[in-house]
Amino acid sequence: MEPGPKGVLYLCATPIGNLEDITLRVLRVLKEVDLIAAEDTRYTRKLLSHYDIHTPLTSYHEHNRHRKGEYLLERLLAGQNVALVSDAGTPGVSDPGEELVRAALEQGITVVPLPGPSALLPAITVSGLPSGRFVFEGFLPKKNKERQTRLSLLAGETRTIVLYEAPHRLLKTLDQFLNVLGDRRACAARELTKRFEEIHRGTISQLRDYFSANPPRGEFVLVIEGKTGAGEDSGTGREWNFLAPEEHVELLTREGLHPNEAIKKVARLRNIPRRDLYKLMNKEKTKKT
Ligand code: SAM
Repeated sequence: MEPGPKGVLYLCATPIGNLEDITLRVLRVLKEVDLIAAEDTRYTRKLLSHYDIHTPLTSYHEHNRHRKGEYLLERLLAGQNVALVSDAGTPGVSDPGEELVRAALEQGITVVPLPGPSALLPAITVSGLPSGRFVFEGFLPKKNKERQTRLSLLAGETRTIVLYEAPHRLLKTLDQFLNVLGDRRACAARELTKRFEEIHRGTISQLRDYFSANPPRGEFVLVIEGKTGAGEDSGTGREWNFLAPEEHVELLTREGLHPNEAIKKVARLRNIPRRDLYKLMNKEKTKKT
């Protein structure tokens, strides 16, 4: 017997706070599918009961994504339609949805995105910072060294920088940005679309001072101005401080400098002999091959 048609995986964007922020199409699909896979079933249950939707619900989150991912794929391959929702916003943006999408595509399953809320765009548009070109960093790495490297890589970024941050790490992150990028304009968008929504605009140091006096609570998106002006001396002038010399060369190359020029510049800035840098770069290359 020929296998029947496969089901469809619908990526349904749901509210990031205000329950009215949901599209008519998402409501219809949530009613019509065979199964809803939700990152946080408690939160989604509230949403479904608000809209009188009684579709079966199952969990799909960081900790069960392998086992549950396989189960969802089996259902899809058997012809059932599945709606994926994250605990808030668009599934696949900084949540495990990304993995299920990849696995479904590998199995030839159709994936349909249903656009709607995400914390990212409202934060950028309300920030007052340039929104035409921006770079989304998701969550910064938790480990200190990896964080510092990521921050250093962002130091030369001219686009507006947007990232998600947990409240207990917000002050530390602002401090680190201040050290590495200098005191730029920034915006902390808190509890977007919720009752206690607050948009704080100022410089990074002003935000840091504010949140030192008023401990951050709730959910945050941070928006930071990209590097303005040219030359290695804008910002703190030592944005590369946390990079290993070879990473510093790679950064400059990514920014468009010829590798030899990058090596020359790093040698001069760090006061290290060029031949040592060449040796380091060769070692790095051998490691990668
Ligand atoms: N998939 C979601 C989206 O499309 O925005 C993001 C999921 S990520 C696990 C959750 C993070 O998004 C939070 O830690 C916070 O940084 C940000 N976030 C979610 N809702 C928010 C809100 N109402 N206000 C501010 N930030 C929010």
